[in-house]
Amino acid sequence: MKNEVNMILLKSRILDIWNENVFTHESSAKWLEELKVILTEFFDVEFANYYIYDTDTFVQLKWNHSLSKKLNAIKWQEIEPFFYEQDFVENSFLQNEDRVIREVAILLKDEENQILGLLTTNLTEKWQKFSQTPQVNDFIKTISKLVKTIRRSVFLTQQEHQYRNLFNVTKMFHSTLEVGEILEGTLFAINDAFPDFESILILSNDQERKTSVPYKLFDYTSERTATVEAYVSGEITSELANDLDVRLLNVPIKGKQGIYGILQVSTPLDYLFSVRQKEFTSMLASAAGNALENAKLYIQSHRLVADLQLINETSRKLNMNISLEEMLLFLRNQLMKSFHPEQVCFVFMGEDEYKVSTASSEFFHSIDGQLYIQHVANHFIKMKDSLFVADLNRLADIKYEYRSLVAIPFREQNTITGFSIVLHKEPYFFSFDSFKLMQSLIQHSSLAISNSALRNKLQEMVNRDHLTNLYARTYLDKFVEASMDEEDSGVFVLMDIDNFKQVNDTHGHQVGDEILKQIASIIQKKVDQIGIGARWGGEELALYFSQMTITQGTEICCQLLDLISSNTNPRVTVSIGVSGWKQKDNISFHQLFHNTDTALYEAKNSGKNKLSIFEASHLS
Ligand code: GH3
Ligand code: MG
Ligand code: MG
Repeated sequence: MKNEVNMILLKSRILDIWNENVFTHESSAKWLEELKVILTEFFDVEFANYYIYDTDTFVQLKWNHSLSKKLNAIKWQEIEPFFYEQDFVENSFLQNEDRVIREVAILLKDEENQILGLLTTNLTEKWQKFSQTPQVNDFIKTISKLVKTIRRSVFLTQQEHQYRNLFNVTKMFHSTLEVGEILEGTLFAINDAFPDFESILILSNDQERKTSVPYKLFDYTSERTATVEAYVSGEITSELANDLDVRLLNVPIKGKQGIYGILQVSTPLDYLFSVRQKEFTSMLASAAGNALENAKLYIQSHRLVADLQLINETSRKLNMNISLEEMLLFLRNQLMKSFHPEQVCFVFMGEDEYKVSTASSEFFHSIDGQLYIQHVANHFIKMKDSLFVADLNRLADIKYEYRSLVAIPFREQNTITGFSIVLHKEPYFFSFDSFKLMQSLIQHSSLAISNSALRNKLQEMVNRDHLTNLYARTYLDKFVEASMDEEDSGVFVLMDIDNFKQVNDTHGHQVGDEILKQIASIIQKKVDQIGIGARWGGEELALYFSQMTITQGTEICCQLLDLISSNTNPRVTVSIGVSGWKQKDNISFHQLFHNTDTALYEAKNSGKNKLSIFEASHLS
């Protein structure tokens, strides 16, 4: 009798656990500790483990993988035969390979014969004796009842905890459109649910994310098969990654319109997730997916508005009556502001060479910069489409300093009249969205730019005399007036062909015209870059040099006198009048002209084919 188990006492002790735990909602592990104390007291057991039954599998409660190499899960079908006759087995299937300890496994079931779990302890003499008595069934029933009650209570508590966790994170998701906050919340919730495991976010690269939250970029080519599978199918996958010594759970971050990435949890190889844990992760991931989708839609709609504003603002500005260079400067600013390139240039096709606009970055006037222009120009010779290069060094053997390149053509009807280039040193710097936006920005500006270029051409035509291609008198007038306003010295020259009437009479008017062209071309070569030449009227020509002394001007005119008399055919000579102005003289253009005309008159009167300088002493 002394050695016999006092069933009433045993049951009452077990009932105590029930009483204490059912209302306190303690974690499911605590009751097992208390049960173990009782088992030790009554049966001398040293250890006790409990396995929760979860869809055909027993998963160990409060399982510590670092202490045990046993799988924390047991498949029901593998152990079912052991329990054909009775609900407990000795010398069990749980036998650990290293430790030869005999164990007892007790199968716990509810009144409807539904399996609840498995209790295992080491086999003791007391238990062996007890198990021979009929009371053993009563004992098992009592523990089963305890477990069932605890299970329901713990289930509710855990469920409540999980839903609270989910609720909080979802509430936060609804209150924010910040991608960073959503990602942070997701990581926080998953780490809260699985503090012992490592969880990471693997996100697809479909939007520009500026976040400090650590995440991995989803890469089809290098991702593990199970991860890709989860991403493609939208279903949870798990993988025994022996190479990494972990088991991976891949939970797709799914919204209504797509999958945005994978929430990946790494556990020890021998860990198994319960159905509820999987359900929780999947709910968390889809809450995150929906939140990311909302944020993305929000960003997209905002970007759309911003894009339209950019294009609108640009078109409006370009349609104002501003010069081509002003237009391009404005466009450059818009490009800089919106896409942050390091270099920008605008190139226009000339007669037989490219003209790099002065609105371009300095870099494009260097030899290095020309390389990029050449590359793009070659492209547009072959193709009419814009160029979007994520990494130039992948295309060419040369090592380019700027690896990201976008080039968009300026089109006039169907011909390409020029192009713009943006560059950045970092590869993959410009997103595809940026490229599309740049394209529509340039396309919208194209018309205004070619109109302006056309207007420039037209103006140039108006400014020139069509026979000699020298500037027209009106242009020279404006030029001299502006120079006299803004600068502090200049030289004005009048030139008249000697005895031209006679030339016409002798050789005909057409030859006279040819001579005019010959002289114009001699003048153009001589004054190019240092001054301008104009047809003043008839056979009279005028030159103007700004910021020049009268001595320098006279020197050039002497050379012209010689050049003309020796390079015209039939030979003609000219007479030249020169006069200069300095700011201190404070004379008008009219006066300057008058002075020069006086000098020319003097040259004619003193024998022609000569040069006369207006002397200040003539002023009186
Ligand atoms: P001078 O040495 O005094 O300047 O004698 P000139 O014969 O050059 O001067 P004049 O003013 O008597 O005659 C100017 C001539 O220049 C008259 C006109 O036939 C000629 N002329 C003016 N414009 C043109 C032109 O566009 N083409 C041609 N072929 N001749 C022109
Ligand atoms: Mg004349
Ligand atoms: Mg003349």
